[in-house]
Amino acid sequence: MENPLPSQARIVVIGGGIIGCSTAYHLARDHGADVVLLEQGTLTSGSTWHAAGLVGQLRSSASITQVLKYSVELYKQLETETGLQTGWKMTGCLRLATNADRWTEYRRLATTARSFGMEMHLVSPEEVKRMWPLMDTSDLVGASWLPTDGQASPSDITQALARGARMHGVRIHEGVRVTGFDMDGNRITRVRTNQGVIACETVVNCAGQWARQVGAMAGVSVPLQPVKHQYIVTERIPGLAPDAPTLRDPDRGIYFKEEVGGLVMGGYEPNPQSWHTGLPGGDVPDDWQFGLFDDDYDHFEQHLTQAIARVPALEETGVKQMINGPESFTPDGNFILGQAHECANMFVGAGFNAFGIAAGGGAGWVLADWTMKGEAPLDLWVVDIRRFSELHRDRAWVEARTLEAYGKHYTVAFPHEEYESGRPGITSPLYERLKGHRAVFGSKLGWERPNWFAPDDVAPRDELSMGRQNWFDAVGEEHRLVREGVGVFDQSSFAKFELRGSDAAAALERICANRVARDPGRLTYTQILNSRGGIEADLTVARVSDDLFYVVTGTGSRTHDLAWITDHLPGGADVRIEDVTEGWGTLSLMGPKSREVLSAVTDADVSNAAFPFGHMREIEVADHVVRALRVTYVGELGWELHVPLAGTGKVFDALMAAGKPHGIRPAGYRAIESLRLEKGYRAWGSDITPNDNPFEAGLGWAVKLRTNTDFIGRAACEAAAAAPLKKRLAGFTTSDPSVVLLGRETILRNGSPVGYLTSGGFGYTVGLPIGYGYVRNADGVSDAFLAEGSYELVVASEAVSAELHMAPLHDPKGERVKA
Ligand SMILES: Cc1cc2nc3c(=O)[nH]c(=O)nc-3n(C[C@H](O)[C@H](O)[C@H](O)COP(=O)(O)OP(=O)(O)OC[C@H]3O[C@@H](n4cnc5c(N)ncnc54)[C@H](O)[C@@H]3O)c2cc1C
Repeated sequence: MENPLPSQARIVVIGGGIIGCSTAYHLARDHGADVVLLEQGTLTSGSTWHAAGLVGQLRSSASITQVLKYSVELYKQLETETGLQTGWKMTGCLRLATNADRWTEYRRLATTARSFGMEMHLVSPEEVKRMWPLMDTSDLVGASWLPTDGQASPSDITQALARGARMHGVRIHEGVRVTGFDMDGNRITRVRTNQGVIACETVVNCAGQWARQVGAMAGVSVPLQPVKHQYIVTERIPGLAPDAPTLRDPDRGIYFKEEVGGLVMGGYEPNPQSWHTGLPGGDVPDDWQFGLFDDDYDHFEQHLTQAIARVPALEETGVKQMINGPESFTPDGNFILGQAHECANMFVGAGFNAFGIAAGGGAGWVLADWTMKGEAPLDLWVVDIRRFSELHRDRAWVEARTLEAYGKHYTVAFPHEEYESGRPGITSPLYERLKGHRAVFGSKLGWERPNWFAPDDVAPRDELSMGRQNWFDAVGEEHRLVREGVGVFDQSSFAKFELRGSDAAAALERICANRVARDPGRLTYTQILNSRGGIEADLTVARVSDDLFYVVTGTGSRTHDLAWITDHLPGGADVRIEDVTEGWGTLSLMGPKSREVLSAVTDADVSNAAFPFGHMREIEVADHVVRALRVTYVGELGWELHVPLAGTGKVFDALMAAGKPHGIRPAGYRAIESLRLEKGYRAWGSDITPNDNPFEAGLGWAVKLRTNTDFIGRAACEAAAAAPLKKRLAGFTTSDPSVVLLGRETILRNGSPVGYLTSGGFGYTVGLPIGYGYVRNADGVSDAFLAEGSYELVVASEAVSAELHMAPLHDPKGERVKA
């Protein structure tokens, strides 16, 4: 321990678990930053010391897989750098399958692994028996085998990271508790502790399960829930190899790892137990260093029974120790990283859902980079703290959803599965009406949104399966309705912001890649880029008047986009931004008959001459002044009608009445997905992310490089436009219409992998599966390179022939996307 506590530091890291130590290490090693790390107890005394130490790498996000792969690379070489062992053993990992759905899941996972550059094999029960002879394999269909996974000693890695951090100049102070912050507005100026105060520029909150209460000291919401997690450590088991692979047996809900000749065995139960501390606000006690709960064999029995069935030798083996410790879990099973939108200088790294040891090395790397540069170094959207919203301040909601996510940790991951807890959360004024139309809802950022509408002879609920699901035909009907007639989508969950002020136009021109400060009444489809030219946001900007802009973006990116725009507004300028999401309902009236319907409910002239594409008008519908935006994501004539919330029901009723002769019906989000796939519209978060620039994404036309206006990412865009592109987004169809595309399928060009699908689904008008993905080539992806290839997609480990498309798949005469 170093003394005394310094009075200032550039960065204060709170928490001496694996995440805090890794972040401090990378801040100092990679950026030479002046860092103080504060730990209220001793290093590792939170969740880290009692982790089981399994280290897996494959996740469904390419970036997170990259983060976990980095952890393994780091753990391999940390001993050389620091002289401290990490206990890293590359034992490989077996995942067992006992049924057909699980086996399909693994076949898809093996393809994902290949797409992400990881080795993963599917092995037979006989092979499993050979690799792990103590196991009963009689019920196995097979297993997946990841040879580069392994295990490590959580405390040893953390101590090695701490030593490495010190070697690079980090000052680590144990026994120092952070008790609050001095704030200047939303900026932390000083960190208060039980031993004095430290002035600093930036705080990184790596306080584990305490991160929620530490965040709250600065007004920051960190939606995590401590949950009890148990495992046992057995006596030695004769015949167990010291290098036995780690084992996950999800159908039995359990995992194993070899440890000093015995086994560590734990599991994920469907009935998890939250830790209710009894303290005000559910706070975690300050003095929980090296704390554990009492052994709970009643609750653990379910795992023990399954474990004995899998490894019969356990029946004869004594239990040396039970560990029952708390770990932070989150509502979607992903960790929480990045800059909190509520506070100008607090970054967070917490909520590691029992893979903090696997993630620790890489999470520290990316969090350090993010902290220093103010931008994530790669697409970290799935873990970004800005994926949450105000809803996540509701502790009861967070707890319910988190327990559901924990309970599903080992269940088969069916495509299109929705969470059930905490619903209905936020409903649009049309909720009851749409239910009357037999809507089947999904939930996005708390909003109930109609996914599809069940015909009378189909039960209005999703029936999960690995193949085509029960909604397939119904969504096809909705799709056709919009392509050929007219449908109406309730998209009230869209996030909506207003920017006002005499400097709003100039501020938005600097933030957006496209020209948005057009004449009042114009609207523009634009991206917002980071300094690398990566796509941070994808939105529509309508100029209502000289000093008022109306911005519409995706439901899920609400907090992120609002924070990004707010953070990049120039100081001292006359511009204010307001989130008006709940003020406006949104009805998207789409289809070739939409003009006939709209003209029947308004006196406004909605002819093409009076109301062309890419324009916005305030028109009166059913006694309400509606902001009508002529724009589309489905590729047909249509309008987004933004209605003052209270009028949404009345306007919907008017549209439905006027549309009756044209067969109007409500349609859902699954139809939107199918329609947009055919038209080649990109989806943010999958097809376009901070890893991709607009030129790679085929959106170079929406970048104002021909103007002299400076905008964030301009230099990177100029460089991208001048050099050969190393990857380009392309569309694919498979010739076999029965193939199920979900995204992450490997793209083969002339038999070699060149990328993977970022999204996939089915186009009902073309009658084929459709996917999008980046084709990569280090020497550049020219038109000729694309055209000369012969393509296949690897779908659930099988290659199927595919065709590449660089133009929309359906109907070039439909509504344009350009505005
Ligand atoms: C039973 C169990 C088994 C697990 N098994 C695995 C596994 O096999 N593989 C895996 O990858 N992960 C596993 N985990 C998860 C892993 O332990 C965690 O994800 C990881 O340790 C989290 O690290 P952390 O640094 O975020 O939190 P912590 O280790 O809890 O560190 C946070 C630190 O912040 C300090 N702190 C809090 N508040 C303050 C304050 N106000 N001032 C100063 N300091 C403060 C705390 O004292 C604590 O030391 C397991 C967890 C449990 C419970």
